[in-house]
Amino acid sequence: MSAIRLLHLYPELMNLYGDRGNLICLQKRLQWAGYSCDIVPLRLHEPIDAVKSDFIFMGGGSDREQALLYNELRRQADYLWEQIEAGLPSMWICGGYQLLGQYYETADGTQLAGLGLFDFHTQAGLGRMIGNVILETEMTGDTTELIGFENHGGRTYFNDSSLRHLGRVVHGFGNNGEDGGEGLHYKNLIATYLHGPLLPKNVELTDYVLACILRRRGVEELPPQDLELERAAHRQARQRIMGGQRG
Ligand code: GLN
Repeated sequence: MSAIRLLHLYPELMNLYGDRGNLICLQKRLQWAGYSCDIVPLRLHEPIDAVKSDFIFMGGGSDREQALLYNELRRQADYLWEQIEAGLPSMWICGGYQLLGQYYETADGTQLAGLGLFDFHTQAGLGRMIGNVILETEMTGDTTELIGFENHGGRTYFNDSSLRHLGRVVHGFGNNGEDGGEGLHYKNLIATYLHGPLLPKNVELTDYVLACILRRRGVEELPPQDLELERAAHRQARQRIMGGQRG
């Protein structure tokens, strides 16, 4: 099998709070299972080549960086949508998540038109939403908890009520601090405010993303791996957030 390629969109611009750790986590898990895996950076003005990609990833960025690349990526919006519909796995964090909607209005009132792939919008509000987050989700089958960290001024609101959240907020703010929803899950696409990085702290979610990637290569599942350390990291992060009260 040819090397699995994880496409990292604009790493110089969109990579906050260790977002890249998500890619390293996927790469390591694949390598442990005997697959070769490359993390391939995509620079501004380079076209996305989905045929050569097993996974697309974009991290978060500041308003300034988002403004630099929104127009660039909008040119590729139709192509990207075709790939997402066809099941290409992808993950979009914070500023990357905001980009998928209709627009993001920054704190100074500038409206950045998004890709319009999903019917939601993001509006900067008073004060930033910062802190650790716990979500509850059924996306991996059973109810599981996801642990992460958020830091955003934008509040995201779904205009289309059929859109599915990634999870329900147990602790933290989530999409907007009001409706209890966090992130977006559509086919093999995950969009979320959770930095962290997210995957190293959440084995179940990593397994889910790996399964999406490998299924497209005709592989049903990874051989069992010893993930006790990763599970301990999850438990510890959760305990810290809850101040040792639960778990
Ligand atoms: N600039 C955006 C906001 O503050 C996204 C920030 C981020 O990616 N962490 O909402």
